[in-house]
Amino acid sequence: MLKPVTKKYTDDSTVKQFKFTFYCDCCKNEMPTLAYDFCSGFKKKIFLSNDEKEARSIIFANEHEKAYERANNEIRLNLNRCEVCGDMICEDCSVYTDKLNGGICCKKCAEKLENNEE
Ligand SMILES: [Zn+2]
Ligand SMILES: [Zn+2]
Repeated sequence: MLKPVTKKYTDDSTVKQFKFTFYCDCCKNEMPTLAYDFCSGFKKKIFLSNDEKEARSIIFANEHEKAYERANNEIRLNLNRCEVCGDMICEDCSVYTDKLNGGICCKKCAEKLENNEE
């Protein structure tokens, strides 16, 4: 599995649906990603043979991994990377500062930059 975009994330997937929640590295706000239904193709059958069950769990694992990657890509687009500490931060935590030539940093790093000035 690839490394999650944020330091903290939760996997809220169920047998029927894939869903992940990421947390801003700075304010720890929850940022849910889109949920995707799991379609194994075995849906209409109530009883599955052991082979089918095994196939289903393999398909599930594959789909789960794909959904996880998709969620990471989705959340990456919604976040900024702090140019100082590398944290992935939400819009609320993003500070556009002249000290980084218009670059972006998180609130914590912005404070430090301000303090260093004096
Ligand atoms: Zn934040
Ligand atoms: Zn930072």
